[in-house]
Amino acid sequence: MAIQLKADHLESIRTHGAREYPNECCGMLLGHAGDAVKEVSEVVPLRNIRHDFTRAQELLPLEDPGRESEKNRFLIDPQEQLRVEKDARARGLDVLGYYHSHPDHPARPSNYDREHAWPWYSYIILSVEQGEASELTSWVLSGDRLRFDLEPVKL
Ligand SMILES: [Zn+2]
Repeated sequence: MAIQLKADHLESIRTHGAREYPNECCGMLLGHAGDAVKEVSEVVPLRNIRHDFTRAQELLPLEDPGRESEKNRFLIDPQEQLRVEKDARARGLDVLGYYHSHPDHPARPSNYDREHAWPWYSYIILSVEQGEASELTSWVLSGDRLRFDLEPVKL
């Protein structure tokens, strides 16, 4: 599989990542899944609710809140996620995956990312270095959930 985005989709992810720096941004990727390629038709920026410490801890507690925060963790509000999924389905679109940024870290998934991912979906990671959008990669979790495989990004 590969994931295909238009130039303005990439631009909107990069802009979102730079705007949220030094915090992580996040969002969803909607479109159509073909046999060989997931074709993105919409990029939906969402709020990283790690900004709301109390609510985020209720939903998915951080193990080490001293070291973990919105600067290196993201969480999509499950209600918002459901709303986007329903709206996508009503318009005949599939949820193809998710994106988030890594402020001042490489565009490689962390163990935390792997533990909170599902197979099949694309996970786009944008590295944001010193506030500037940098490398962008896409990853798919293996069926046994043990590793992320790099997925080609097509324009
Ligand atoms: Zn990550």
